[in-house]
Amino acid sequence: MAVNITTDLRVVRNIGIMAHIDAGKTTTTERILFYTGITYKIGEVHDGGATMDWMEQEQERGITITSAATTCWWKDHQINIIDTPGHVDFTAEVERSLRVLDGAVAVFDGVAGVEPQTMTVWRQANKYSVPRMCFVNKLDRTGADFFRCVDMMVERLNSTPLVLQLPIGAESDFLGVVDLVGMRALTWRGETTMGEDYEIEEIPAELAEQAAEYREKFLETLSEADDEIMVKYLDGEDFTVEELEAAIRRATLADKVNPVLCGTAFKNKGVQPLLDAVVKYLPSPIDVEGITGHAVNDEDKPVVRKPSDDEPFSGLAYKIAADPHLGKLTYVRVYSGKLEAGATVTNSVNGRKERIGKVYQMHANKREEIASVGAGQIVAVMGLKDTKTGHTLCDPQNQVVLESMTFPAPVIEVA
Ligand code: GDP
Repeated sequence: MAVNITTDLRVVRNIGIMAHIDAGKTTTTERILFYTGITYKIGEVHDGGATMDWMEQEQERGITITSAATTCWWKDHQINIIDTPGHVDFTAEVERSLRVLDGAVAVFDGVAGVEPQTMTVWRQANKYSVPRMCFVNKLDRTGADFFRCVDMMVERLNSTPLVLQLPIGAESDFLGVVDLVGMRALTWRGETTMGEDYEIEEIPAELAEQAAEYREKFLETLSEADDEIMVKYLDGEDFTVEELEAAIRRATLADKVNPVLCGTAFKNKGVQPLLDAVVKYLPSPIDVEGITGHAVNDEDKPVVRKPSDDEPFSGLAYKIAADPHLGKLTYVRVYSGKLEAGATVTNSVNGRKERIGKVYQMHANKREEIASVGAGQIVAVMGLKDTKTGHTLCDPQNQVVLESMTFPAPVIEVA
């Protein structure tokens, strides 16, 4: 049965995961879906094996990773993972996915560091000021070097990494991370299994000095990005974890810093803290001020649509995919108003009327038919005939074009 989805926008995170090929985007996404699958099943009898089974099934059906948007839940937050193509040849597709997401996680190979495809996507994300976090993956690999990777983020991406974690141990002895916000250690000892949670421990004595040094660097970088922290920092006052987390969020949303975390997705270390950070530091749809499109037939007349259910409906079709079970699906980000199954909307780019067929929210292990969704959501729509990627769907009485005909703007190469 179709349900109405009206979620408090503050708990929604529309995120993309970007990476150079082989850095571990697929593995990280799979782990995220695994761990969020566990929380999704709260209250049910659950064992890791059963969850693994559905993951395997879904992989066979090609839904888990290839879906253009996958919705999952983590600690009362709805995370919509938007597929961000890794291949640089698809510039328009990458840019379009960067427009429909509100925040991103860049995954790095701890051995290779910052690689060319990441540099390209990073520059594209700069253009839209997409708030970004970094996850230095593969720290279990021989030759992995967290600190070199952080240096490369400065040199190659010209970013401001805000290091929130330090690795404990290296390569096959990689044990966990020092959490520089809470000044504690999160460890996974020995061989880890899927679903295993970390232990909270004291920072190991041999890392105490390094942790103190990096805590100071963390506070310095944060205070340069945030006035409230600066004032207290200069007065030599202490901070609570809540104060620091709020400041990290403000600085990330303002695109002034990029929080950096680390781990090994493959060995299931670091993914739960990464999910916590996504919820804490990346924006919700209402942290974004609304989208500016233009009037139909007049590119120079801006029209702003706010992320509210009370505004007229507007949405951007950003991807068309062939689903093995449902046929043609058009993925739409709703920017304002409500998208309702059965409603008639206007495609403001080609001037045609379209009838919205069934509407689905896509999960890793199921799809949910919904009657209507509000602003800020990302759904798959069946039944659209003349809508292509980049087209706007809107209320026939209140039309707007969200994506200009000249999209994408040229990428400016930075020397
Ligand atoms: P993608 O191309 O970015 O999606 O990368 P994948 O997730 O497919 O990973 C590429 C390869 O690296 C695969 O063989 C993974 O098993 C492996 N891999 C991913 N994460 C890790 C990790 O944390 N440690 C190690 N040692 N290997 C990893």
